[in-house]
Amino acid sequence: MSSTKNICPLCGGLKKQGTTTFTVDMKDTLVVIRNVPATLCSLCGNEWLSDEVAANVESMVEEAKNIHRQVEVTQYRKVA
Ligand SMILES: [Zn+2]
Repeated sequence: MSSTKNICPLCGGLKKQGTTTFTVDMKDTLVVIRNVPATLCSLCGNEWLSDEVAANVESMVEEAKNIHRQVEVTQYRKVA
């Protein structure tokens, strides 16, 4: 079971650690978060975020929403 951990469930390609740009398009705000740590498939390019990273991204999106800026481009950082 653990041997499939680094294999992409979509295409069978090898997953690798890297960073991605996370974009959330909401009604009033577009949030772009750069350098988000992620697991990437080297074949199809699918991305996975860890629970911790996903929680941070969610907090950053909430922050951006509260600022009411139309476009918020920011670097990933730990919020919690
Ligand atoms: Zn893949």
